[in-house]
Amino acid sequence: MESLLDQEVLSGEETVEQSLRPDSLSAYVGQELIKESLRIAITAAKQRNTPIDHVLLYGPPGLGKTSLAFIIGKEMGTQVRTTSGPAITKAGDIAALLTNLQEGDILFIDEIHRMQRTVEEILYPAMEDRCIDIMLGKGPSARSVRIDLPSFTLVGATTRAGTLSRPLRERFGHIHRLDYYSTDELVSILSRSMQLLGLNVTPKGLAQIAERSRRTPRVANRLLRRVRDFAAVHHLNQVDETVATAALDQLEIDKLGLDRIDRDVLNLIDKQFRGGPVGLETLAAACGEERETLEDIIEPYLLRIGFLERSPRGRVITDAARTHLGLPLPIS
Ligand code: ADP
Repeated sequence: MESLLDQEVLSGEETVEQSLRPDSLSAYVGQELIKESLRIAITAAKQRNTPIDHVLLYGPPGLGKTSLAFIIGKEMGTQVRTTSGPAITKAGDIAALLTNLQEGDILFIDEIHRMQRTVEEILYPAMEDRCIDIMLGKGPSARSVRIDLPSFTLVGATTRAGTLSRPLRERFGHIHRLDYYSTDELVSILSRSMQLLGLNVTPKGLAQIAERSRRTPRVANRLLRRVRDFAAVHHLNQVDETVATAALDQLEIDKLGLDRIDRDVLNLIDKQFRGGPVGLETLAAACGEERETLEDIIEPYLLRIGFLERSPRGRVITDAARTHLGLPLPIS
């Protein structure tokens, strides 16, 4: 049962990432409407002395879904148990997780869209009536036993709310879509991280990193660490705009935050597939990336900045992307 909870040994990078996690709603930058709604829900739940209603958070990776789940736990003063959709393979796994929860606990399920249907069905009564029905025995002597659960809050995170089944989606009392961050918001996230890491980066240096961060806090913090390495290797005590630019150029991250893989994908669509439309599967095979990586990480940002468009027959490159990459525009 314990193995279902995330307990993997964290790499150095992951440990640093965890140390940079905001631990209160006030330290959590941006997403103002979501914070406000959660603040109200938390205050009301505390007054009633009940857990808050189940929360579904969706949006691209690195925008702060896990951080929010832990903040809810912190603000409610309860434990957060974490697992993920793919880690729960059998109905018995989720039953074990649920029956081991304590009163008020938060169960955080990452990638909840990847949970199997049989597992999902156990969750319905658990979420609605705080109970589960389990089968004891096999064959004619099998009987169903109802087990009451402690009150708990399920926080689900997904990159694709669209792939969640309707009955599951409808059982969440709060559904929030996280949006990409503005440059100013990323600058304030970076200045907090800079202090925590004991770095000295000028405001213009921070803006440079923020602008190339794909509007995503996880990317911003990762680039900050790479810039820190660059400064250390060059024995620099301060990172200004020039140093930040040099470090990011060396990583081949351009002014819009595109890296080599993004450019490869766009170039492929333009050249090999004559601008598209090209299906995701074909594109993934052509660029040697997993379909999931393409769909969850690479594509959402390219769509968001208007470099890709979705058509019924696949993905199409836009003229804005061609101009950015210095590719000739098609003759219309
Ligand atoms: P997700 O679960 O959506 O993939 P995380 O919550 O793991 O994203 O966030 C990744 C990292 O980005 C966190 O470790 C944290 O340092 C940073 N981060 C995310 N959102 C925020 C925010 N709103 N304010 C400050 N830092 C954030």
